[in-house]
Amino acid sequence: MYFIDVILPIPLKQTFTYNVNKDEAAFLKQGMRVAVPFGKSKLYTGIVYAVYKDRPPAYETKEIDQILDETPLITALQIQHWEWMASYYMCTLGEVIRAALPGAFLLESETIVSLASETYEHESELSNDEFLVFEALQHQSSLHINDIRSILDRKNVVKVLQQLLQKAVISVQETLYEQYTPKLKRYVKLAVAYTSEENLKELLDTLSRAPKQREVLMTLFMITSQDKKPVEVKTLQKKSNTTPAVIKSLIEKGILEEYFVQKDRVEYTGESDADIKKLNEAQEKAFSEIKTSFEKHQVTLLHGVTSSGKTEIYVRLIEEVLASERQVLYMLPEIALTTQLISRLQLYFGEQISVYHSKYSVNERVEVWNNVLEGKSKARIVIGARSSLFLPFHNLGLIIIDEEHEPSFKQYNPSPRYHARDSAIVLGNLHKAKILMGSATPSLESYHNAEQDKYGLVHLKKRFGNVLMPEIELVDIKEKHRKKRMKGHFSDQLLEEMTEALANKEQIILFQNRRGFSPVVECTTCGISPQCPNCDVSLTYHQYKKELRCHYCGYHMAMLISCMACGSETLDTKGFGTEQIETELKALFPNHTTARMDQDTTRGKHAYAKLIERLDEQEIDILVGTQMLAKGLDFRNIGLVGVMNADNLLNFPDFRAHERSFQLLLQVSGRAGRTQKRGKVLIQTYNPYHQILQQVSVNDYEGMYKQQHEERYQYKYPPFYRTIKIIFKDRNLQKMQNASVWFGRALEIKLKENVLGPEPPPVARVRNQYISNVLVKIPKKQSLAKTKEYLNNVKRTFTSIKEFSTVKITIDVDNY
Ligand code: ADP
Ligand code: ZN
Ligand code: ZN
Repeated sequence: MYFIDVILPIPLKQTFTYNVNKDEAAFLKQGMRVAVPFGKSKLYTGIVYAVYKDRPPAYETKEIDQILDETPLITALQIQHWEWMASYYMCTLGEVIRAALPGAFLLESETIVSLASETYEHESELSNDEFLVFEALQHQSSLHINDIRSILDRKNVVKVLQQLLQKAVISVQETLYEQYTPKLKRYVKLAVAYTSEENLKELLDTLSRAPKQREVLMTLFMITSQDKKPVEVKTLQKKSNTTPAVIKSLIEKGILEEYFVQKDRVEYTGESDADIKKLNEAQEKAFSEIKTSFEKHQVTLLHGVTSSGKTEIYVRLIEEVLASERQVLYMLPEIALTTQLISRLQLYFGEQISVYHSKYSVNERVEVWNNVLEGKSKARIVIGARSSLFLPFHNLGLIIIDEEHEPSFKQYNPSPRYHARDSAIVLGNLHKAKILMGSATPSLESYHNAEQDKYGLVHLKKRFGNVLMPEIELVDIKEKHRKKRMKGHFSDQLLEEMTEALANKEQIILFQNRRGFSPVVECTTCGISPQCPNCDVSLTYHQYKKELRCHYCGYHMAMLISCMACGSETLDTKGFGTEQIETELKALFPNHTTARMDQDTTRGKHAYAKLIERLDEQEIDILVGTQMLAKGLDFRNIGLVGVMNADNLLNFPDFRAHERSFQLLLQVSGRAGRTQKRGKVLIQTYNPYHQILQQVSVNDYEGMYKQQHEERYQYKYPPFYRTIKIIFKDRNLQKMQNASVWFGRALEIKLKENVLGPEPPPVARVRNQYISNVLVKIPKKQSLAKTKEYLNNVKRTFTSIKEFSTVKITIDVDNY
């Protein structure tokens, strides 16, 4: 008898055993996919983990349905990496696989398929089975795998679907993310009729009576004589100090011709031979220090202030790795950031770049997967958010983790709750690849590791091109209120600086870490404020839609006219969000364009990319937004950054709140003054003497680090202790409490005082589920593996207690 162990994408156990015949056993290898039956009627695609003879498990095994691959789709290294993830993050291999593979690789009974497009040109080339499915889908817009089984009148249908997917006849349902194509730019050139010297001379003569138009032409000649690049209408207009109307009339007369091109394209073809930028002295020094550091350390942290030119250093490293024919993984915290980066890297590396993201279409992802697996040159460099570390690399030479401090590298839901930075380090180890992490505000964990000489550490302290760090000033708004120097939420100082910046034609960014109009509506008569019926949280007022909204579950209702409790029409709002700032801005600066960047305004397709583009194009004078603003964007013309209120960041109940505030504030500040003129940052606060704000104001990362480090030591938090959070949820409060208390007590038997809680989080009920957390702290000298094993044992006993069977339990290792 021959058996195989298969990893199924479910959270039950690590592998499941099936029996196969001798030929199948000879053919199958680890990393190939098989379709297998599960339970009464389910079907899953699984990954072969092991093939062996004569070792039947205690239960009766089933046969597999079908073999789906000719060669392994998954490498041994990947399996090794994923086993580490499953064990470290306390989940099953199947859960990792579900996160790792594009949905199209994992067809199962729940999968819904539909036609990829209305028509298919090569109908005649479809096999009988393929055609039957194709035809059925013409009548029914979508089908379940089980429907297809009855249509084809057999069990083994996965392979047929696989082929249809490959031929792009069908697609599987999921939400897609399409990459944004930047909008077209308007260019002008001299009409062909006037390119001869004679005609041109004549033209200029006739235009002597239209001096403004003549001026525009002369400017155009001046620009093109210096530089052969296409001339944008906007540039021409600015340089010749004219109006759109003058240019328009030149176009109408046929003297100028307008044309439209995508910006990236122009830059790309215009500079396809772009040489890698020559590093300046500081960069060159950092570059060689990184290389020296790599001789001793696998991981090196590049601590470089905002706009110090870290990216150009990455570029040089990438160039060297490519020369040795190895692959490069470039990880970013946010895929929306890639638009700026990709155009930059394409200039240097052209077609060797692939972008990977879990929300890309199935076909795109499958294509990148295969290219990486086959080591194609198109996928030499992969840029991606956290899921890109699941790709089948076989020869990684370098992993870059940009903005390594970003919390969004940690996946919260669903399992595996992995930290992409930490998982990438393990991946790098498996490949013997070098890892470079970069940040202007490194995480305490990474900086600690560097201090301990576990990682190399390289500094870059100056901005590129002698640009000064912005000047950061704290504004005491308690004082301003007392002296009646506030207009709405703006201090007189902020308003003055804003007016000046606008007069200098500089743009402004305003940061407020809360969306909506105001987070609390309160009746001034009885003091009651409307709450979400499903969650223990106040409803946020959104003025634009005249709605009250819950930011936890999405519940919304029309704004009230009178108090629900006492009926008085004395509703007032408390606190403020981005929407309120935007409203105030429009009244304060009616002649300037304002815009808002937060979850509410970036939901639409490409809305985020469009906002960035508009800001880049200087179509927006003032942008107000949440922390989305802080994520590594590179703008040229921001003269002023205003933080509306730093206090709610600092008061957030989390042991990382202070570190996080420092990072956020310094990162938003870093958007200011990236060109010659020194940028300015104003931070409004009720607590100007708060340590963190003082440290932000003088860009004192080291000071922040020392102090926070000390506090973490005192209060037993990372990097000195590891943490595991266990979250309990149930609709029944009592049951949830009993369960969490039982679990906490059980852990205490062995882990003693290092178990905290159970304790409800700040919002203790979400979507009608009551929540409580237990936190386990693990000292560095205590075995992590043994602690997890113990935790798993407790969990196993817990799940066997009938009374707790409905309680949902989530384990979050290294919780954020
Ligand atoms: P960081 O990633 O540290 O924030 P960037 O790499 O974005 O900084 O660099 C900031 C700006 O300086 C960018 O516009 C970049 O093009 C420019 N820059 C950096 N290094 C060089 C260089 N060696 N030569 C020319 N321009 C550079
Ligand atoms: Zn009331
Ligand atoms: Zn809610």
